[in-house]
Amino acid sequence: MQIVSRTRDLGLAALLAILAAPVSAQATQASRTASLLTELIRANTSNPPGNERRIAEILAPKFKALGFDVQIVQTPDSGKAHFIARLKGDGSKRPVLLAAHADVVGVEREKWTLDPFAGEMKGDHVFGRGAIDFKGGMAVFARAVMMLAENHVPLARDVIFVAEADEEGGTYNTSWLAREHWADMDAEFALNEGGWIMTHDDGRVRYVSISTADKSSIALTLTARGTSTHSSMPRPDNAIFALSRAMAKLSAYETPLIVTPETKQFFTALAKTSTPPMSGYYRDLVGADAAKARKADSVVGRDPLLHALVRNTIAPVIIQGGFRNNVIPGSATATVNLRMIPGSDPAAFVEELRRVVADSTIELKLPATLNRPSAPSSQETELYRALVREAHTEFPSAEITPYLFQAGTDAGAWRSRGVPVYGIYPYPIDADELTRMHGNDEKVSVKALEQGTAMIYRTLISVAGKK
Ligand SMILES: [Zn+2]
Repeated sequence: MQIVSRTRDLGLAALLAILAAPVSAQATQASRTASLLTELIRANTSNPPGNERRIAEILAPKFKALGFDVQIVQTPDSGKAHFIARLKGDGSKRPVLLAAHADVVGVEREKWTLDPFAGEMKGDHVFGRGAIDFKGGMAVFARAVMMLAENHVPLARDVIFVAEADEEGGTYNTSWLAREHWADMDAEFALNEGGWIMTHDDGRVRYVSISTADKSSIALTLTARGTSTHSSMPRPDNAIFALSRAMAKLSAYETPLIVTPETKQFFTALAKTSTPPMSGYYRDLVGADAAKARKADSVVGRDPLLHALVRNTIAPVIIQGGFRNNVIPGSATATVNLRMIPGSDPAAFVEELRRVVADSTIELKLPATLNRPSAPSSQETELYRALVREAHTEFPSAEITPYLFQAGTDAGAWRSRGVPVYGIYPYPIDADELTRMHGNDEKVSVKALEQGTAMIYRTLISVAGKK
């Protein structure tokens, strides 16, 4: 039984008694989400190599015992498997799906103050790699789905839970799964990771952002060519100098402001929960006055995340050229990671960069297969509306807003097939906790996990429960 779902039936005195109980006792008695999370963290699924099959093996018996149809989908890599569990509805509506990646990024173990794979509970937090990204979310999604079965909620649609491999990199991700097993993961709409439930410093929830689109990632290569010769007789056509000039021009170039309807809503929500002068800058950034928007951009853009939300970005990531001291190489190559806003055309963006480089001897080349950004998912679906409603119920003081996720997720497998996906890290976190994601001493609070579980559970009842 979840503490939060029970609080409505409890008297105030009983509720206060629970809140006053030592947190560790509260956690062990009440938080099945936190205890599932500790179990998931203990299976080290740092990718590479991933070994996501271990997560499938932890989850399979738990879901099976509750009457789910359970599948472990083996990939050609023996350590990697996807997990799919389906709770049957009466079929009158199409399924709702919840997806969570089972892999995590690796750790710099010496920088952690505790074992990243022990799933330690300290104070009112669960610590460990994946606590936020995304084993915490997996625990919340899994518990919310399991509660439907435990509480025998009559369902109008199937509820599908997917724990997936290779989200943090690799071949056998959800795109592979969708090619091989689409029938098992087809749905009317889905939840995934993405937006944030951000708190103020005092712990109150400031805003809930639900991502309706992800930026797409493209590897552009720039190649400069020159005469390969002895380094004692340099020539003007030096490939490394030419590439360096091109890179210097790119580094000085700021891509234009692009405001989508979702980012406009996001910055408007941010403005409402901020104080001057920042609230004014957030409003100006997405307002009609271009001069004010530019000025606001120069201030707001100091935050790298907010800077990335309103433009296509350019980040050099690999540079190669030369192999020994006495040889001038015949070529030098840079890989530049481009992150694009939905609706942007990769070819047009490359043309823009070609004009900036302004050197016809430099070759700019896109990869043969392109990750085109999927269109944003609609805000007019039953799932989006239910999630907004339940976020309001759980966090009454918060602004709720759609969001363009600054990075990529596995949502593309669904969005590119027309299935709307809504992204959320389903627990309140503060700026410090956000920094620890992919960093050190990653943690999430037990209370936050409980609030998230309650919110997602009620969302599912609203969307999948028989009326
Ligand atoms: Zn993630």
